[in-house]
Amino acid sequence: MGCLFCSIVAGSIPATIVYRDDDVVAFMDINPATPGHCLVVPTRHAEDLLAITPGDLAACTAVAQVLARRAVDELEAVGVNLINSCRAGAWQTVFHFHIHVIPRYEQDGMVLPWTPEPGDAAVIALTAASLRG
Ligand code: AMP
Ligand code: ZN
Repeated sequence: MGCLFCSIVAGSIPATIVYRDDDVVAFMDINPATPGHCLVVPTRHAEDLLAITPGDLAACTAVAQVLARRAVDELEAVGVNLINSCRAGAWQTVFHFHIHVIPRYEQDGMVLPWTPEPGDAAVIALTAASLRG
């Protein structure tokens, strides 16, 4: 099976491109969460956040910032979410790294996917110790 987003980068599958350079392509999501929802991908295939090179990640992030600015300036978005899902267990469905740029609007129906409530201090400290390595 070929990679869907590599095919879009190569131009062999149609997409509504909004940005392209040697390192990064951005195109409209065909199932938009809100108007202007687009995806930023590296031109070089990387499966996910853990596989992409730091340089390609930085390039994608910089383009996501440009598109977030355009969403605010041109689409009159009231805010923007950048979302990356890394691995199937975290909702990833297309296994070529991508950043969702999701413009936000008043009453757009989007909801925070967790309920903020205080965590157990001991668990927070323990997991922090693991993350410090
Ligand atoms: P994720 O579930 O985070 O891996 O995101 C994959 C995204 O790719 C979804 O939001 C899909 O709607 C989007 N998608 C799938 N196929 C295409 C396509 N051919 N063109 C544009 N977006 C697509
Ligand atoms: Zn790919």
